[in-house]
Amino acid sequence: MARCETTNQSNEILAARSEFVPTALSGGVSESAAPQVDWQTAMRRAIRCSDELRRKLGLVETSSANPTGQSEPSTTAWNESDACERPSGKDSFPTFVPLEYLARIRPGDPDDPLLRQVLATPNEDVDVDGFSADPVGDRVSVAAAGLLHKYQGRALIITTGACGIHCRYCFRREFPYTLLGSRNRSWTPSLDYLGRHPEIDEVLLSGGDPLTLADPKLGELVDAIEAIDHVRRLRFHTRMPIVIPQRVTPWLIERLSTSRLAVWMVVHANHPNELDRHVLATIGKLIDAGIPVLNQAVLLRGVNDDAQVLADLCLKLVDHRIQPYYLHQLDRVRGAAHFEVPVETGMQLMEQLRGMLPGYALPSYVVEQAGADSKTPLVDQNKSGQ
Ligand code: SF4
Repeated sequence: MARCETTNQSNEILAARSEFVPTALSGGVSESAAPQVDWQTAMRRAIRCSDELRRKLGLVETSSANPTGQSEPSTTAWNESDACERPSGKDSFPTFVPLEYLARIRPGDPDDPLLRQVLATPNEDVDVDGFSADPVGDRVSVAAAGLLHKYQGRALIITTGACGIHCRYCFRREFPYTLLGSRNRSWTPSLDYLGRHPEIDEVLLSGGDPLTLADPKLGELVDAIEAIDHVRRLRFHTRMPIVIPQRVTPWLIERLSTSRLAVWMVVHANHPNELDRHVLATIGKLIDAGIPVLNQAVLLRGVNDDAQVLADLCLKLVDHRIQPYYLHQLDRVRGAAHFEVPVETGMQLMEQLRGMLPGYALPSYVVEQAGADSKTPLVDQNKSGQ
């Protein structure tokens, strides 16, 4: 998956303001209200600027007179009438947060682990050595327009530049989607490549997020892949079931569960608070329909760099039949250095998790290295072989 293209739909956003009522301005994480709108409306009404995000969460500093007559900042003011700053032309990775996800963020808490994933901060403007625009070598792996071929037997189609959320640590935050014509792209070059390579038996749909494609477009792509005889497996990499769970429609479940291909779904949750009952019920429907669901998480400073948080995440996943798959070391993309957790710390966390979880609930701690022919496991050499 990678990040979202931006469209200007300020009218819908303004319309959505009156619909959204925060469940609480203090206290613990709330269970979000049942989704009331279809997924495409959820995309249109998403928050698209960080000022509005702060206001929605009661984190805007506004001046108020104190008893001495002087102004002092308040961090809990809720001011709907403040103008929302639009992303500037040079802001290539604007804010995008659906209200369904916002409802899982604790109002008034600037350190909320879900908020940290989506709120742009000045840290993103700090250049740090070793952090680049293309940390995993995507651009040199483009084998046909819109298709990456990195690993033996598998190829990845960049289906779209759109996502259901913008994660500030995203490794494709600077991916040049427009060069792929991602908005109205043709599948032909990707499908031709797959047809010419009988050794490819698995196709990954990524992006962006493949589940931001409308049903007809997605159905067309699945039909075309099914028509390639040597392809046996189809894997979705998507955050949509986590951030906008109503995207998993009856049509989607029916289409994927009746495919001739073995369909696998890899979702992306980093913290147990992301897994509310709507998300878990939605994923349960996929699993009930015979579609295996795996989770990959990214190890993120201030979000999940804590053994208890990771254990809670993994146990919540397996309690709901979702397999913890990968814990990724952060891809060193420009603008995300403040999220990095040292590998040594990650290894210590994995060691703690080994003592807390059953083996099947333990994800593999890995890093993606540009040019490598697989993900690289991160293991403590002093402990391996013991
Ligand atoms: S959902 Fe987040 S991490 Fe995944 S591709 Fe989109 S922005 Fe990147």
